[in-house]
Amino acid sequence: MPRLNPGELEIDLFCKGLRIDASCRLDRDARLFSRTRAGLGSGLELVIPGDLKDIWMNAPVEEDFCALSPYLVRWSEAGGYQVIDTRSDEDYEVHIPPTPAWYERTTSTGVPMSKIGVLQGTYLGIYVSEACMFWNPEENANCAFCTSGVNVGVNEVTRKRVDDVVEVARAAKEESGVTFTHFNAGYQWEDKPEHTRAHGLNRAAPYVKAVREQVGGFLGVQVAPVLPHDHWKYDWLVDLGADHFSFCYEFHNPDYFKSFCPGKFGHLGQDAFFRAMEYTTKLLGKGKVSGEIIAGIEPIEDTLEAIDYITSVGAFPTVCIFRPLIGADLEHLESPAAEDMQRVMEHMWRAMVRNKIPLEIIPNIEVSLIVQPGDAAYLAPRDLGWRAFRARNAIVRALAGPYVAWKLKPHAVKASATDHPKLPPRRQPEPRPGSEAAA
Ligand code: SF4
Repeated sequence: MPRLNPGELEIDLFCKGLRIDASCRLDRDARLFSRTRAGLGSGLELVIPGDLKDIWMNAPVEEDFCALSPYLVRWSEAGGYQVIDTRSDEDYEVHIPPTPAWYERTTSTGVPMSKIGVLQGTYLGIYVSEACMFWNPEENANCAFCTSGVNVGVNEVTRKRVDDVVEVARAAKEESGVTFTHFNAGYQWEDKPEHTRAHGLNRAAPYVKAVREQVGGFLGVQVAPVLPHDHWKYDWLVDLGADHFSFCYEFHNPDYFKSFCPGKFGHLGQDAFFRAMEYTTKLLGKGKVSGEIIAGIEPIEDTLEAIDYITSVGAFPTVCIFRPLIGADLEHLESPAAEDMQRVMEHMWRAMVRNKIPLEIIPNIEVSLIVQPGDAAYLAPRDLGWRAFRARNAIVRALAGPYVAWKLKPHAVKASATDHPKLPPRRQPEPRPGSEAAA
């Protein structure tokens, strides 16, 4: 069996999982296993060093399929951690990032910082809303691969105070070198005009403004798409400081979308994701929006088509290898075959090159939950096109330097996070019985 390069190893680990040897001292050396948001961060954060780039990944360790994995992480006698392929005895050096000191602290209101936000790779992820409404028992329409309904309010705080979020974002930037903060939320009602203030974009707005003004850095928002009559909200979020939007439509095949994302199908439809992705890509420019899909459930040809579509509109594909998470409806499905996933990721690289999507322009954004487009550089032949694409990105990166330095600083914004001429007036609270107003 030939030795794998870092990109191939990443994919194999995502598909086969990792066993943990008794020699490991992960309680001392590793970040806590963080079961927040949709649940994908539940594995072991590790870094695979490489000549093109170091790859950050969250290796599955607790799902059933991991027990059969040929991969074992162990402490080496020479010091440091290794992943051993027990089929061939091949060993791979890996780094285990430590728990950041701020995980152990609380905010000034006494909330553990790790219950406000978590590092997923090198970026800060913060869930900014109540549990997704698709998990509401009356609705019973959650996505079949997701576990956010059992995480939010248990492993993380439900509704986060803006000041707490600012404190955590500041600590993550100053102590962990975070350059990108990502706000997400599950579905909040949007399909009736009177609910327009309850949408995820409205929920994210105060956090975006506060972090932009008080911390700085690049800010991303990932919530359910608004329907076209509300696309103005994306402009509003950009005015508040958002730099990036991502759209999780999960499956390109409409039948899979309908079966495995019943809430998204019933309340939004695939088209809402496509139109929002196209609108925001025009608004922000190429490579600043992502289309998020899951590979390993729908037929591979559909996933390849998704990648072609996403890159054709100027967005970049965020391709997550399906993980049968404990507690998800699809817990008992098999993890996908590494060969299939390698084909998907190589296709992703080619699509990025063909569509000239800017890549890795902002420093230090490593997302451990997915195979990043830049990780896929390890999978493609290093031909002229490969070299030209990387050289082009290096030039853009150098030219963007002053802009990046400016963005990393806090800046005041004029827009209001709670009021906008197109928002319906805020409902006044009902007067309490017996109060002057009630009389
Ligand atoms: S929209 Fe789907 S994936 Fe997102 S939180 Fe809700 S159930 Fe989970």
